[in-house]
Amino acid sequence: MDLHTSLSKVNGIGPVFAKRLAKLELFTVNDLLSYYPFRYEDFSKISKISEAKTDEKVTIRGEVWQIKNAYTKFRKTLTQAIINDGSTSINLTWFNQPYLTQSIKSGDTLQVAGKISLSKGKPSLIAPDWEKVWGTNPGIHTGRLVPIYSETFGVSSKWIRSLVYKVLPLVLEDLADFMPDFIRQDLIPLTDATQNIHFPQNLHSLTKARDRLAFDELFLLQLTALQTRYLWNKKTLIKSWSLKKTELSKFIKQLSFELTNAQNKVIAEILADLQRPHPMNRLVQGEVGSGKTVVAAVIIYLAHLNNFQTLFMAPTEILAWQHYNTLQKLLAPFNIEVGIYTGSKKFTKDQKINPQVIVGTHALLSDKLKLDKVGLVVIDEQHRFGVQQRALLRQKGTAPHFLTMTATPIPRSIALTFYGDLDLSIIDEMPKNRQLIKTYVVPEKKRPDAYKFIEKQIQAGDQVYIITPLIEESETLASTKAAKVEYERLQKIFSKLKLGLLHGKMKPKEKETVLEQFRVGEIQLLVSTSVVEVGVDVPNATIMVIEGAERFGLAQLHQLRGRVGRGVKQSYCLLFTSNGDAKENRRLKYLETTFNGLKLAELDLDIRGAGTVYGTAQHGKIDLQLAKLTDLTLVEKTKNAAQTVLNNDPALDKYPPLKAKLSSLVSNVTPD
Ligand code: ADP
Ligand code: MG
Repeated sequence: MDLHTSLSKVNGIGPVFAKRLAKLELFTVNDLLSYYPFRYEDFSKISKISEAKTDEKVTIRGEVWQIKNAYTKFRKTLTQAIINDGSTSINLTWFNQPYLTQSIKSGDTLQVAGKISLSKGKPSLIAPDWEKVWGTNPGIHTGRLVPIYSETFGVSSKWIRSLVYKVLPLVLEDLADFMPDFIRQDLIPLTDATQNIHFPQNLHSLTKARDRLAFDELFLLQLTALQTRYLWNKKTLIKSWSLKKTELSKFIKQLSFELTNAQNKVIAEILADLQRPHPMNRLVQGEVGSGKTVVAAVIIYLAHLNNFQTLFMAPTEILAWQHYNTLQKLLAPFNIEVGIYTGSKKFTKDQKINPQVIVGTHALLSDKLKLDKVGLVVIDEQHRFGVQQRALLRQKGTAPHFLTMTATPIPRSIALTFYGDLDLSIIDEMPKNRQLIKTYVVPEKKRPDAYKFIEKQIQAGDQVYIITPLIEESETLASTKAAKVEYERLQKIFSKLKLGLLHGKMKPKEKETVLEQFRVGEIQLLVSTSVVEVGVDVPNATIMVIEGAERFGLAQLHQLRGRVGRGVKQSYCLLFTSNGDAKENRRLKYLETTFNGLKLAELDLDIRGAGTVYGTAQHGKIDLQLAKLTDLTLVEKTKNAAQTVLNNDPALDKYPPLKAKLSSLVSNVTPD
C-alpha cells in the first residue's frame, strides 16, 4: 500500500464503502490522510472512577460487570451496564442501541468516555463513547484527543477514525516532505504534522500540526499563482502597442460624461502594462455601476488603433447583448465594427465578416471561431469562468493582452492568495450624483405595507425587480419553478400592474424580449431568478426586492442591489427572509448601513468563510481546510516564502519533491 493506492483496494473497505467515501471526495489513501478532523473531543483525561468529578469529561477503563437491555414506557430501549475499575463502579446508559448487548459482554475490558453525571445520587455516564481494549492498547476512540470527522450517509466519524488509525502507520514513511528546509524552519516535519492532525498527543502538538498544514495550504496556492504569473511574464509580445496618446484623449473627450479620477487612474495602470514587452494580465475590480465598460472601451479603441482585434467575453447571453449594444454606441462613430457571437447567434461561413470587436459568451471558446488578429481579450465577471476557460481564450491570439473585470470585491487576502497571478486595479469611486440606495430588512408582518409602497411607486412611473430565492448555484428546474410560482402569486396581488417573468431556462430570444419590454417600460415589475442577470442596466428601475435574502452572501446582495439606483431617482432595496431567523437578519442588517462592496465582502469572509464565498473553480484541487484567509499574517508570510522559492529557481528543479507536489495538485488546471 502506498499513498496512491485506491481506497477500494484497502483491506476492510470494499466497493460499498469505497462508493460512500467517494461522496466525500476520498479516492486514494492520500485523500484519506488529507481529510482532516473538523474538531476534537477531549477525552484525554483517564480517571479512576472514585476520583472522577461530576461534569468532568473523562475516560474510564474498567471491567464490564453487567450489561442488559430494559424498556421504557414508550417502548424505547435502554441499555444499562456497570463497569468497575478496581476503585469503584459506575453505571452506563445508552438509548436505542439494543444490539450493544451483542458486542459488549460481561468480563470485557472497556474504555468509556463522556461527561460524568449524577443519576439517583450515583455517578454515571449517559451515552458514553466506548471501545474494547486489550493489554496496554491505549484505545482509538477514547482516552485521547479524539478526532471528529465530517460524516456522510453510511460513513461514521468513528469508522473513518478506525480507518485512518489503521492506514496511517503503513504509509507515513512515504510522505515525502516537499517543503524546502530553508522555508520549513520552525515548522514541524510533514510526517509528524500528518500524524498529529489526526491523533494529536496533546493540544500543543495539535497546534503545531495545524500551523504546519495551514502553512502548506496557503504556500502551495500562492506558489501556483506566482509560478503562473512568472510563466506569463516570460511570454513576449510579437508586436508591442503604440499608445497613440492624441487619438486616445480625443476618444475620451467625446464621451458623454467625464471619466472619474478612479477610471483615469485604472486606464493609466493599463497603459503602463501595455508599454511592457509582455502580455498584460490585469484584473479590474469596481463596484456595480462604477463604469468598467467604458474603461474597457477605451482600451478596445486603442487595440483597434494598433490594428488588433478584441474578444470580449461575457458570462451570459443577455450581458453579451448588452455589452454589444453599449460598445456599438461607443465605437461605431469611429468606424469600428462590433460583432456578436453567442450560442444562439454565430457567424455563418458565407458571412465574410471578421469584425474588429467580437462580443460573445462561452461560444467564443469554440474551435470554429478562427481569428488571427486578436491582441486583446476582455473578460467580464471573470469569476464566472474557470481557469481552463481562461487558458483556452489565451490560445486564441498569440499572447494577447488580458483585461478581466469583476464587480465582486476582493479582500486583500483573497487577492494575494487566489489572484496572485493577476495585477489588480481598483475603481474605488462611483460616477457623481449617485445616491445611496435605501435598504431595509423587512419583517414578514410588514410585507403588505411593502407591497402598497411598491404599487404606489410603480403608479408614479417607477419600475421594480423582484428576485426569487437562490436555490442552487446554477439555474435549476427548482429555481425556475419557484420563480413561476412567485410570478403567479404576485399577479394576483398586483392585478393592476404589468408583470414580467425572467428565468434561466427561457430561450435567449425570450429573455431578450422580456428585458427589452422591461427596458422600455412595458413591464413594470420584473420577477426574476438571481442567476439570470448580473449586469442589466435599466435606470428607471428604483426598487429591488430580494426574497430569501438569507441564502445570499452580503457581497452578492450588494451586487443585486446595484441593479437599482442607476438613474437620478431615490432607489430602494427591500430584503425579505424566508425563515425570520434573527441571527440571519442581523447579518443582513449590515446592508442597511454599509454600501461599500469590499467591506461587505470582508464581512462575508468573516461570517461565512472563504468556501462559501469563493467557489473551488479558481484553484482546482487545492482547498483550504485549516488555513484561514482572514489570517493576513499567514497569507503574507506564505506569499513571501513562495516568492523566495521562485526567485531561487522558477522552474523548481532544485526542489524535486516540491515540483512533484505542485504538479500533482494542478494537473487538472494547468494554466497554459
Ligand atoms: P459596471 O462597472 O457595473 O460595469 P457600467 O460600465 O455598466 O458599470 O456603467 C454604469 C453606468 O454608468 C453606465 O450607464 C455608464 O454609461 C455610466 N458611466 C460610466 N462612467 C461614468 C462616468 N464617469 N460618469 C457618469 N456616468 C458614467
Ligand atoms: Mg459591467
